[in-house]
Amino acid sequence: MMKFSAGGASIQCPCCGYDSFEKDYRQLNSRGASFLGLDWANKNATILICQRCSHIAWFMHEPLSSR
Ligand SMILES: [Zn+2]
Repeated sequence: MMKFSAGGASIQCPCCGYDSFEKDYRQLNSRGASFLGLDWANKNATILICQRCSHIAWFMHEPLSSR
């Protein structure tokens, strides 16, 4: 369980207001995007999973972790 901040503000879950998340990564590309030539979509996004309600928040730039 870790706390994070992005853009200079601490991140809270928009669903339940909790402030501890698990960090993971997901590919943004899909077959459809590649077929259409949208190569800018072939990137990794950082996701934070709320440890209380499991809401997933997506970030293009990795949030800073702060314990
Ligand atoms: Zn939550």
